[in-house]
Amino acid sequence: MLVMEKAPAKINLSLDVLNKREDGYHDVEMVMTTIDLADRLELRELPADKIQLSLESRYVPSDERNLAYQAAILFKKTYNIKKGVHIQIDKSIPVSAGLAGGSADAAAVLRGLNRLWGLNIPLAELADLGSQLGADIAFCVHSKTAIAKGYGECIELLPAPPTCWVVLARPDIGVSSYTVFDQIKIPELQHPNTKQVLAALEERDFSKLCNHLGNALEPITFSMHPEVARLKEAMQLAGAEGVMMSGSGPTVFGLMKHHRKALRIYNSMRGFCKDVQLIRMLG
Ligand code: ATP
Repeated sequence: MLVMEKAPAKINLSLDVLNKREDGYHDVEMVMTTIDLADRLELRELPADKIQLSLESRYVPSDERNLAYQAAILFKKTYNIKKGVHIQIDKSIPVSAGLAGGSADAAAVLRGLNRLWGLNIPLAELADLGSQLGADIAFCVHSKTAIAKGYGECIELLPAPPTCWVVLARPDIGVSSYTVFDQIKIPELQHPNTKQVLAALEERDFSKLCNHLGNALEPITFSMHPEVARLKEAMQLAGAEGVMMSGSGPTVFGLMKHHRKALRIYNSMRGFCKDVQLIRMLG
């Protein structure tokens, strides 16, 4: 028995940090949506009760440190499954890029094992389970458009953004979310207007959405890596309708209503960095 799962990346339409909790986590408010850039997973049942993971990547371990592996352990333990699985991951989402690649893989394992072993567990329950492993996994289990609250585990689904195109541009660096979150000084944060982002989605108003993209982590990442700020400026100058850094960076995305303009901006950004992609918004 074999199942295939896509693990799509996310971008943040807004990212706000409300406060730091006693337990060290931050309370956040993040509006996220799904884009047409995905890792691909193949899950195959094994005759013996064990977990095997294979992937080719210089940057990601294929042992217990991998979030996909941890998701499989958690799933088997929670539902007391005594069967084995081989997980093959074909990675396309860049690592430590602010696109939640690891979380997307873990979420895909939870959905995939649910199908492989025919358990019919509702997505909301899988999302709760996933949030034990990482803040973005609950969102990635749903893989739609949603606002995430708490430390990321409370998910409310939202209308998908209006149809549009996304240009992703990424400097050749990885940014650790931990390091960025560690530097947050709550009183100094500039908060995005999350309400307006929600209104733009409700009203399906593309311009309003572009005008209210916001990310409280941008100044922190920009001060650590000025090239990310320069990339954002280049995308704005190129004429993208909305531009923002995703997550803790370093990926910067631009939104464009029409493909022709998106293609022009894609070509123009290729002059600034090597990793530029033109993809569809999925929502
Ligand atoms: P985060 O906000 O968690 O930093 P990100 O999108 O910026 O998310 P990821 O690509 O998820 O970054 O990688 C973050 C870290 O998670 C890296 O150190 C990587 O080695 C580790 N990791 C564990 N499992 C995976 C996986 N399946 N794919 C990618 N990274 C993984």
